[in-house]
Amino acid sequence: MKITQVTTAVIEANFDWTLVRIDTDEGISGLGECFFAPGLTATIRELGECIKGRDARQIEPLARKLVRIATPTAAGGAVHHAISGIEAALWDLNARALGIPLWQMFGGRFRDRVRIYADCHAGDALESFSPVIAPRRPFWLSESAPGENHGRGVDSPEAYAEHATAMAKAGFTAIKFDIDLPSLANEDLHARTISPAQLARQVEVAKAVCDAVSPDVEVAFDCHWRYAPSDALRLARALEDLPILWLEDPVPPEDDDALAWVTQRTSTPIASGENRYLLTGVTRMIEMGAVGIVASDIQKVGGLGEARRIAALADARYLPFAPHNISSPVGMMASAHVCASIPNFLAMEWHAASVPFFDDLVAGRDKPIIQNGYISLSDAAGIGVDLDLDVCRRYAKRDEPFFDD
Ligand code: MG
Repeated sequence: MKITQVTTAVIEANFDWTLVRIDTDEGISGLGECFFAPGLTATIRELGECIKGRDARQIEPLARKLVRIATPTAAGGAVHHAISGIEAALWDLNARALGIPLWQMFGGRFRDRVRIYADCHAGDALESFSPVIAPRRPFWLSESAPGENHGRGVDSPEAYAEHATAMAKAGFTAIKFDIDLPSLANEDLHARTISPAQLARQVEVAKAVCDAVSPDVEVAFDCHWRYAPSDALRLARALEDLPILWLEDPVPPEDDDALAWVTQRTSTPIASGENRYLLTGVTRMIEMGAVGIVASDIQKVGGLGEARRIAALADARYLPFAPHNISSPVGMMASAHVCASIPNFLAMEWHAASVPFFDDLVAGRDKPIIQNGYISLSDAAGIGVDLDLDVCRRYAKRDEPFFDD
C-alpha cells in the first residue's frame, strides 16, 4: 500500500483548521489535522514528498523519519505540527484499510465515550485568529453577524457565571475560562505581574463561576503563560478554597523549574504542556513533578502515537492527561480515539462552540458530534467520520490549495 500523494486543505474557522489527506495506490485514504502555523501547508507538502512511494503501513517508522528530517532545521518547532497531521492521517488510513476503529488499533478502549470540556474563552460571538494570532473577520461571516469579539465580551463576574450556567445546561461537566484577561488599567503585561486589583477580580470571577455550577460542573482557568512564579503562586493560593479543576499555564512555557516551583507550593492543580513537542519535550516536566495534569496538544505534539507515549509516561507518575485542543471534527475525532485508549484520561478541550459549521464539516456519524458534553465512539473504521467536501469547500481558506483540486 504505497503513498501516492499528501495534500492539504485549510478551513477558515476560529483558527486555520489545517487538514491533511494521504492517498495510496490501493485507493484508501486517511485524514489528519495539524495545529496551525505560518507557512504550514508548504511544510506539509514538502514533508509529504519525503514519504511519497513509501509503504503507508509503516506509521511509526515514517513519522520518525520525518522527525529526523526536521531535526537540523526545526527541532522543537512548528514542523512538528505538520508531522502530527501526517502521522494522524497514516493512523486513520491504516485503520480504514483494516476496517477497524482507531481505538482498536491502539489496543482497545477504556471508555466508549470521551468527556469534553468546553472552552469559554470570552463572549458567545466568534473570535477568529490568523496563523500569527492576528484577529480577523472570516470571509464567510456576514456583515451583520456579531463577531470579532476581541475586546473580550465577558468581564463581569455575573457574565462569567451566566456563560458557565449556559454551558452546564448544554450538558458539559467541565468548562474552562481565560482568567488572565481582560487586563486592567495600569497593568504592565511585560513585567509578568498581577496587580492587587487584577488578583481581586480573578478571585471574584472564579468564585462566581464555581458558585454558579459546582459541583456538577468542574471549572478550569487558563493564564496563557503570563505570570512570574511568585505572582502565579499568589493566584494559585488565592484559588485554593475553590473546587477548581486546574489552573493552566501560570508561568512562561519553557522553564520546568519555574513551573515546578509553583506546582509544588499550592494545592491548586496546575496543568501545562500544550507548547511542548514530542515525548522528550515533556519528560523532565513530568518526571520532576512540575505539573499536576499533562495538557499536550495532540495536533501539535508529534502525532497520535507520541501523544499516547506521553500519556503513558504521565500515567507512570499517576498524572491525568487532559489534551489541549482547538481543532475541527477531524482532529477532535482522532484525539477522542487516543483519549479512549489511555487509562489516565481526564477531559479533552473543545474550542469551537462559536463556529457555526463545526458539525457540518463531516458526515458519517450522529450529530451533534458532542452530545451532553461527550463524544461517543463507534465501531466505524478509522476516526469514524468522513469530510463533507461541499461544506468544507464553502469554508476553505481562499489562498490555500483544496486537496488535489
Ligand atoms: Mg491554554
